[in-house]
Amino acid sequence: MRQSITAAAVAMTATTNAASLADVCTVANVQAALPANGTLLGIDLIPSSVTASPVYNATSGGGMTGGSSTSITYCNVTLSYTHTGKDDKVVVKYAFPEPSAFKNRFYVAGGGGYSLNSDATGGISYGAASGATDAGYDAFSNSYDSIALLGAGSIDWDAAHMFGYQALGEMTTIAKPLARGFYGASDNTKIYTYYEGCSDGGREGMSQVQRWGDLYDGAITGAPAFRMSHQQVNHVFPALVEHTLDYYPPTCALAKIVNATIAACDPLDGRTDGVVSRTDLCKLQFNLSSIVGESYYCSASSGSSGAGGMKKRQGQTSSTPEQNGTVTAQDVAVAQAIYDGLHNSKGERGYLSWQIASDLSDANPTYNSDTDAWELNIPSIGGEWVTEFIEMESTDGLSDLTNVTYDTLVSWMNTGLIRYTDTLQTTLPDLSTFQSAGSKLLHYHGESDFSVPAASSVHYWQSVRSVMYPDLDDAEAEKALAEWYQFYLIPGAGHCSANQLQPGPYPQDNMQTMIDWVENGIQPSRLNATVSSGDYEGEVQRLCQWPSRPLWKDGSDDFECVSDEASIESWTYTFDAFKLPVY
Ligand code: CA
Repeated sequence: MRQSITAAAVAMTATTNAASLADVCTVANVQAALPANGTLLGIDLIPSSVTASPVYNATSGGGMTGGSSTSITYCNVTLSYTHTGKDDKVVVKYAFPEPSAFKNRFYVAGGGGYSLNSDATGGISYGAASGATDAGYDAFSNSYDSIALLGAGSIDWDAAHMFGYQALGEMTTIAKPLARGFYGASDNTKIYTYYEGCSDGGREGMSQVQRWGDLYDGAITGAPAFRMSHQQVNHVFPALVEHTLDYYPPTCALAKIVNATIAACDPLDGRTDGVVSRTDLCKLQFNLSSIVGESYYCSASSGSSGAGGMKKRQGQTSSTPEQNGTVTAQDVAVAQAIYDGLHNSKGERGYLSWQIASDLSDANPTYNSDTDAWELNIPSIGGEWVTEFIEMESTDGLSDLTNVTYDTLVSWMNTGLIRYTDTLQTTLPDLSTFQSAGSKLLHYHGESDFSVPAASSVHYWQSVRSVMYPDLDDAEAEKALAEWYQFYLIPGAGHCSANQLQPGPYPQDNMQTMIDWVENGIQPSRLNATVSSGDYEGEVQRLCQWPSRPLWKDGSDDFECVSDEASIESWTYTFDAFKLPVY
C-alpha cells in the first residue's frame, strides 16, 4: 500500500514537472485553480477578472539582499477580489515559475517608505511563486500616505488596515491554494512560505508575523519601521533639539562629530578597521565633549554630492557653503542631546535614539545663502506624519516648530500610539500563533542606522522575550526564543544597507539561511555577513546573535561573541513618559 502511494506521488510529480509554462499559464487553468468562494473567509474572488500570460527571459533585479540580476521566466497572473458584503476591489498579481523550477515555495517581498512592494517576481530565483497587491487603493501607483486621508480629519481606515497588515495577509492566503491548483498539486501539499523586507518592508513583515503568524514558515525582517507612533515623530526630534537650544550647527561640524566618534570608538571592539562594532562600549566609554576644538573643513556642495574634505554624508541634500572651523561646545551639546533621546519636561523618557557613531542626517540644518546662516530643517517624513497622521489636516508637513516642546513630541507620540494601535503600530509582542505554527523569524538591524534606531529593534525583541517567556530567567528565555526568533545587529551598517562612513559587513544570503532553517531544520547560531569595502573587503563575518556582542581579543583574527551585562543594559529602555506600555 505504502509503495503504491509513493508511486502515485512520483507519477504525479513527474506529470506536473513535465508540463510546460505554456501548458499551465492559461486563464482556464488559473480559474480552475482558484479556491471556491466561501472557502476563504471574507474574500470573494472574481474568476472573470483573471489574466494569465507567460513571460520569457525577463530581467530580475536580484532580490532583497543584492544578488546579481538574472534572467527569469514565469507566468504573470492578475486577478481581483472583493471583501464579502463590501463593494470594493483589490487587485493582486502573482508570478509563478515554470513547473520544472517550482520548489513548493511562496515568497513575499516587502516595500519601503509608505509603499508596498509592487514587483511580484522576487521569488522566482528561489523557485518560489510570489505576489504583490494593490491593497484596494491602487498601491501599484499610490503610496499610502498620499491617500491616507479622505479629507481633513477623515482617515481612510480601510486603507490603513490594508496597508497596515491585511492586504499582504490576504494575498498570501489566496496564494497557497492557488499555487497548489496551478501546478496540479494535492490539497495537502506544503507550500513553504517566506517573507523578506527591510525598513517599512521590515514593519510589513512584522505585521505578518504578528497578525498572520500561521501563514508564514519564515520571515526575514530588517530594520523594521514599526512602533510607528514613536518612529515617525522621532524624525522631528533633532530639529526640535536645535530649535530648543536655539542653535543650528554647521553640517560640517556635525559630520566632524560623527567621523571623530567613529575614529575614537573603532578600536573599542578590539580591531581598528573603521567600524564601530560596539556602539555600546562607545556609549559607555567615549565622551563627545573631547571633540570640542577639533578642526573641520568641507568644500562647498551643491546638493547630494556630499562634503568634499569629509567622508560623504548620507541624507545630505541641500546645498552647503565651504565650511572651515572648529567644533564648539554648542555643536557637541546638540549631538549629545540627540543621542540621549527624547525626554519630557519631567525628565521621563519618551523615546530612544540612534546609536552614538550613527550619522546625524536628521539633524542637518538648511543653509540660507541670503543670510549666510543655518536654519531649521524639519525632515519631511517626520513633519508629514505630524500634520497628516496626527493633526489629520494636510500632507504638507511642518513649516516651523513655534510653540512645539519636548512635551509636544511626547503628546504626538501618545496620540499615534492610541490612534494607530490596531493598524500601523505593528509592535504586538504576543507571537504565540507564529511560534506554535513552527515558524521562524530572522530579525536584523544596522547598528549605526541613522533612520530607524537600532535600539528600537532591541526593545521589541526584549518585549517579545518577556511576554512570551514571563516565567523564565533571561538565559532560559533567550535559549527558548532562539529556537524560533533570532535577532542580529549588523556592526557599522546604516539603514538597510552597508554604511559609507563605516566599511562593515552586511548579510548577503539571508534567504538561504532561512530556507535551511525552515526546510532542513538547521537552526542558525550566527549570521553570515560580508564586508564590501575597505581594508577587509571580502571578509565574511559570522555575526553574533543578540544579546551576545563581538569582541576581538588580543589581536585575534576573529571576534568572539561575548556576554556583557553593562553593554546590554545600555540598550535597555523604559518609556516612563507614557502610561500605556510601549512594546
Ligand atoms: Ca572596529
